[in-house]
Amino acid sequence: MKLFIPGPVQVSDKTFAAFCKPMMGHRSGDFKKLYGGIQPRLQELFQTSQPVFLSTSSAWGVMEGAIRNLVGTGKVLNCMCGAFSDKWLDVSKRCGKDAVALQVEWGQPIRGEQIRQYLKQGGFDAVTLIHNETSTGVMSPIAEIAEVMREFPEVQLIVDSVSSFSVVPIAMDELGIDVLLTGSQKALAMPPGLALFAASKKAMARAASTQGRGYYFDFVEFQKNQAEDMTPSTPSISHIYALASKLEDIFNEGIAARHARHAATNALVHQWARDKGFEFFAPEGYRSKSLTCIANNRNIDVAAMLATLKSNSGFIIDGGYGKLKGKTFRLSNMGDETIESVGELLSSLDKALPA
Ligand SMILES: *Cc1c(COP(=O)(O)O)cnc(C)c1O
Repeated sequence: MKLFIPGPVQVSDKTFAAFCKPMMGHRSGDFKKLYGGIQPRLQELFQTSQPVFLSTSSAWGVMEGAIRNLVGTGKVLNCMCGAFSDKWLDVSKRCGKDAVALQVEWGQPIRGEQIRQYLKQGGFDAVTLIHNETSTGVMSPIAEIAEVMREFPEVQLIVDSVSSFSVVPIAMDELGIDVLLTGSQKALAMPPGLALFAASKKAMARAASTQGRGYYFDFVEFQKNQAEDMTPSTPSISHIYALASKLEDIFNEGIAARHARHAATNALVHQWARDKGFEFFAPEGYRSKSLTCIANNRNIDVAAMLATLKSNSGFIIDGGYGKLKGKTFRLSNMGDETIESVGELLSSLDKALPA
């Protein structure tokens, strides 16, 4: 079996081997050396001078944590354009926050002007944005949005890059992103269970004065422990070994080469879709570089195609998220995939596709 779903994605033998290294004490010198040692590379990848925190949780832990740390008595604007971004509104409400929905149709991006219209009303503490909405294959224009956010310096910008981190450049400091977060099992191709995030000085100052942060996701706790190369509670040490190994891979390949590889594998999938007479669920200019959400305009039996693909080749793709099931299907080119491996997927798909 091989996963070509947009998360979790296939994990390499090298990453698994690192994951299985022996345990050590999480307050030991060896741990601090491991954690401190990966900081410079993490900061380079996050394009930040702030520390990068490691949370033993899936991405949702930090997505909820960011709300608890940065949203006080003011409002939070949840930008919604698909399953994950829509859910962030619900999570904000469950945290007891005054959450406002900026909803666009699934398949469309979030635009800067839309955010401006809401923020002009005043009273907002934060905006949540999913850079790459994995359910619809839409990438929203982060630079355009960051530009609008500069008009509202009192508002914090929280960005989820779970399926775009290390796929395209995201210049955290330069763009003025206040919290940038990602998870382990998608663009980074590690086992699920770790979230990575960095917070701006502005975000840390806000966190320090926000009530009800709780403990497990308290950014101030992360910062205190980080100063000594530690995490607040016992982390998944296995994930940190795996992360160190993955960083080795990323820097051996080169960050620019990694971006270029994703662009090339993504273009290959796009060409295949066009050749087969399919359309894209996302509009031109706003399509994800790490996965492709293909519209089922040919009205094929998606479930049957998935079953044939799986039994012929062992490849597993996604048949559409939630309400898009059967109306779309998604192919991932995240993580370690190459022109060769994506090519293999596409030629197997050729055979599984109804004539
Ligand atoms: C998968 C995903 C999440 C949720 O990640 P978990 O690891 O399940 O918490 C959040 N945002 C995006 C964009 C995702 O693709």
